[in-house]
Amino acid sequence: MAETAYKRILLKLSGEALMGEDSYGINRSTIVRMTQEIAEVSKMGIELAIVIGGGNIFRGIAPGAQGMDRATADYMGMLATVMNALALQDALKGHGVVARVQSALNIDQVVEPYIRPKALRYLEEKKVVIFAAGTGNPFFTTDTAAALRGVEIGAQIVMKATKVDGIYSADPNKDATAVRYNDISFDDCISRRLEVMDATAFALCRDQKMPIKVLSINKPGALQRAVLGQDEGTLVHI
Ligand code: UDP
Repeated sequence: MAETAYKRILLKLSGEALMGEDSYGINRSTIVRMTQEIAEVSKMGIELAIVIGGGNIFRGIAPGAQGMDRATADYMGMLATVMNALALQDALKGHGVVARVQSALNIDQVVEPYIRPKALRYLEEKKVVIFAAGTGNPFFTTDTAAALRGVEIGAQIVMKATKVDGIYSADPNKDATAVRYNDISFDDCISRRLEVMDATAFALCRDQKMPIKVLSINKPGALQRAVLGQDEGTLVHI
């Protein structure tokens, strides 16, 4: 088996990644394909934790939440991540991978609560741990939950899987001269105004010296290459 560059990683998946070409919800073939990639990484012996977003179902700042009390809307967004987490767990099971969902909000009949020592034990047992309900607090995002849980579990890196295959000097959809960075420092991201994660998540990773890798979830094999330490996506480092 190939030597992996990391022993424990925190993977952040946006809810939108589960939509595929649809405009809402969970696209079945997309989640099956995506979890196949995740299953391959898990089977490499990596200790893998996942924070899943909820943007494919509901966001506290979505147009559908306009006029709502923001905290209420954010709780709805956190509940959306629980649905995604269950779908992810189920799809991973289909690939022969055991996953446990832990939620930052207590929904006892459905998921177990977030208990750090238990999460650590699952990871040591090579079970995938899916962290649901973000940080459990309104006014935050699942990017911040990814940074927080990543630091808490002692992950060596936060991998942010998005629709784009890294960080570019400009929007590659709008600017043909945009170039992808192989690696870039936290300070350069700030001075070049490159948005990698929201400000809270970015600051937490920077303070805790937690590297971030941005990669595409739609590119076959990208996650596996990143885990092997090969040139893939963009690495943000101190
Ligand atoms: N959310 C929250 N606190 C958290 C994490 C998430 O209130 O700690 C809510 C917030 O409304 C957010 C929604 O859950 O818009 C879905 O999360 P996010 O937008 O981060 O999902 P993604 O963009 O990754 O799909």
